[in-house]
Amino acid sequence: MEYATTFLGIAQEKALHLFAFDFGRYAIAASLVAGLVWMLKRTPWRARQIQKRTATTSDFRREFFASARTVLVYVVVSILVIWAIRHGYMREMEGSYGLAGNLGMIVAIIVAHDAYFYWSHRAMHHPRLFKHFHRFHHRTVTPTAWAAYSFALPEAFVMALFMPAWLYFVPTPGIVVFTFLIIMILRNCMGHAGLELHARGWASHPVLKWISTTTHHDLHHAGSFNHNFGFYFTFWDKVMGTEHPDYVAVYDRVTGTKPAPKSLVAEVA
Ligand SMILES: [Zn+2]
Ligand SMILES: [Zn+2]
Repeated sequence: MEYATTFLGIAQEKALHLFAFDFGRYAIAASLVAGLVWMLKRTPWRARQIQKRTATTSDFRREFFASARTVLVYVVVSILVIWAIRHGYMREMEGSYGLAGNLGMIVAIIVAHDAYFYWSHRAMHHPRLFKHFHRFHHRTVTPTAWAAYSFALPEAFVMALFMPAWLYFVPTPGIVVFTFLIIMILRNCMGHAGLELHARGWASHPVLKWISTTTHHDLHHAGSFNHNFGFYFTFWDKVMGTEHPDYVAVYDRVTGTKPAPKSLVAEVA
């Protein structure tokens, strides 16, 4: 079978599938998390809502359409990757590393993406970059799951470039890429859920505290722009001293472990 080798030919062949996959995983993950939050707000877990403010319809509309636009950027970058493979600049891996190898590889991509996210996110908070790259994402003050891909075009490209960079250096089976992309969007939607979904005591647990929570990213959106740049893990924030000093106290207040001092309630209200 003849494969298209021009950008337009590949677009004709693949764009619809790529869009369906990338938009589908956003829409499904955001619907699942938003639906879960909607249900939990009808139970005593409503107390876990992190901010007093609730997102408005115009927030939802902006986040949804910007996320769809980000998906288009992912599609363009994916077409470029296919173009590079068909011209021999990149190689597609056939086969697999076996179950243990594939699982190890998923962990490795997540660790690499966490570092990429922390440092690119921190760089985009630099005053010279913030306005064009990252201010749009911060129009979301009270996150909802729909904000997962709510980026300006330049930031969408920064986010989309991680995968090709990884694939250029590391031969990776398709199933590993697929699984990583599902985990990535689920964690992204959970981080923006607006209602704390993680277990009580998580932020101070000796092992779990290294994994990020909804409150962790929510504090960043609520105005703490010098803190909590991380995504999957709290590792970089802890090591670089950028974790919000009251993160654990706010987490414990939100999950009902103990009431937080009034000053904190005001800050995230
Ligand atoms: Zn930010
Ligand atoms: Zn965010």
